[in-house]
Amino acid sequence: MIELQDVTKQFPSGNIALRRLSLRVGKKELLTVVGPSGSGKTTLLRLIAGLEQPTSGRILFAGEDVANREPHARRIGMVFQRQNLLEHLSVLDNLLFSLRMRRQSRAVQQAKVDRVIELLDLTELLSRWPQELSGGEQQRIAIGRALVDDVTTLLLDEPLAQLDAVRQVELRQLIRSLPATTDTTVIYVTHDQSEALALGDRIAVLSAGELAQIGPPQEVFQAPATRFVARFIGSPRMNLLVGKQAGYDLEISGVTIRLPNAYDSDRAHVEVGIRPEDVTIGAAANSLPGEVQHVEFCGHESIAYVRVTGQPELIACRVAGSAQLKSGERIHLSINSDRLHLFLPDGSVARR
Ligand code: ATP
Repeated sequence: MIELQDVTKQFPSGNIALRRLSLRVGKKELLTVVGPSGSGKTTLLRLIAGLEQPTSGRILFAGEDVANREPHARRIGMVFQRQNLLEHLSVLDNLLFSLRMRRQSRAVQQAKVDRVIELLDLTELLSRWPQELSGGEQQRIAIGRALVDDVTTLLLDEPLAQLDAVRQVELRQLIRSLPATTDTTVIYVTHDQSEALALGDRIAVLSAGELAQIGPPQEVFQAPATRFVARFIGSPRMNLLVGKQAGYDLEISGVTIRLPNAYDSDRAHVEVGIRPEDVTIGAAANSLPGEVQHVEFCGHESIAYVRVTGQPELIACRVAGSAQLKSGERIHLSINSDRLHLFLPDGSVARR
């Protein structure tokens, strides 16, 4: 298990990349770390790998503080966005490289390489040169290099970002299986929230160097801890409306919606989050009148963007199949009040 306790990283320039971050990742767990550019994802991996030292706080591996453990002694493999294969060596020699550097016996080298060749299905690639490989194949070899020397932890930093969608799906399946097949802890950094949701046993959401939320994907999606998480996770992102709330009544653009729960106090101004799948088109009691601005056809569904008077943003609404809606059409939107979130001015979630 890897544990970070209250870790802060400030660079000499004064930049604070991580603030008081605490989290635990279990053995055989796949944790995805997601956040916008500059939120501290790569710094987190570099700290775990020992390539950077925390300014304060502790990092523990299996309960032991690793502050004085050199990177090579941490038994970590790393894979980056761009492959880091040695161009002048064949695939097989790339796989053997770190084992040879450590002067391991030939028999041990062979056994370790054979294991990753089988695991990652690399036999047909062994005699090729890196420049003869596709991007997906290069990343498979990079994963093999990272895993070859009995690592306990695999750190992946946007490893699929350069690949096309088909290769991404293939490699994602492989990566998904690695914690179990290799008995490792896998920490996977991405800025792509859909990838984080699809891949992680749990996901950690970073915002400006702070841990905004950590939990199973379903929990983070359904019960976001802050407005930031609510808007960052999910695509199209959660709609944000403004309104006022008193007891069980929520007023949005002059329409009163009955809430399933009363909140801890009344608010003259509140932000209301609702996902596009929880907004339906059609007149009903307490529906909001609006005007269709545009419709995006996505194949199995369409996304309608609707202007509601008094609201700062267009409201996105998922419609099955190809929606027969025209720009300028006047419609009504119904909000599933069981699924809405109320946010306070500081971005936290209002308590019920
Ligand atoms: P991206 O998705 O763009 O790779 P990230 O979430 O991985 O971003 P980091 O690379 O960890 O973010 O950077 C976090 C913050 O720390 C940023 O503000 C960055 O500018 C800063 N930072 C990173 N490395 C250094 C460094 N060596 N010196 C000074 N500041 C740094």
